[in-house]
Amino acid sequence: MILADMHNHTSHFSPDARMDINGFISAARSRGLSIACITEHYEYDNPDPEDDITTFDIDSYVKSFNEWKINCPGDLKLLMGIEFGYQTHTAQTIDGISLSAPFDAVILSNHLFGNRDVYYGSGYSLPKIERHTQYIDKMTEMCTNCSNFDIAGHFDYINRYNPDPDERLLYSDCPGSFDRFFEVLISKEKCLEINTRSIYKLSLKSDHDLMPDERLIRRYLAMGGRLISLGSDSHTPDTFGILFEETGEYLKSLGVRELFYYEGRKPVGYGI
Ligand SMILES: [Zn+2]
Ligand SMILES: [Zn+2]
Repeated sequence: MILADMHNHTSHFSPDARMDINGFISAARSRGLSIACITEHYEYDNPDPEDDITTFDIDSYVKSFNEWKINCPGDLKLLMGIEFGYQTHTAQTIDGISLSAPFDAVILSNHLFGNRDVYYGSGYSLPKIERHTQYIDKMTEMCTNCSNFDIAGHFDYINRYNPDPDERLLYSDCPGSFDRFFEVLISKEKCLEINTRSIYKLSLKSDHDLMPDERLIRRYLAMGGRLISLGSDSHTPDTFGILFEETGEYLKSLGVRELFYYEGRKPVGYGI
């Protein structure tokens, strides 16, 4: 199986990453990745006072990336991406910035719940169903209000920092919300990311049901969903391509035949 990791960060433009480009390239190659996409955080007008992730100069990023790419050994395809953090009032702005540089891939993510990054444990006092419904509805709003993106990032982010080891994000929590989310993704030909960092985080506190809910994946496929990408969301060198083989096998067992990476904003399929 080709290992194409479509979601990763470096310390050059993502303040929460702990690896520079040299560490990035050498770790990605040691892991045997064929393709690694850098998707630096761009959190426009971040309302969280404790969070230092904001924006960066796009031209500097493009310039740095072009130098990195020249110096990258030929066995690793390095791609230039970006991960936008979505808020209702920033939709138009980020949708415009997406078109301002020759990105290979644009990920849209929702890191916030109640104006705080989920990383800080926001929202866990709300009942599970309400929390999951609100979060997936926000993903739908994000994919409705923006158009110039490729991949909807970590739909399960709401559960990633949950202190409860047994809670899962299930299709049955909010089937109508999931259906609306999938419908907009499919009708706009956007890609559903399976974020293996979320799976990995779960594996640190639990030893069962680590993979994304089977019903959820089957429903996406049944509705006509075809585009799926894998991202390890690496911020450190030790997690590149983490659990990719296991996740690939799992998706295959549910009927997924192909995964996708993006180059020049176009999806490219490859077999599992
Ligand atoms: Zn993210
Ligand atoms: Zn990320």
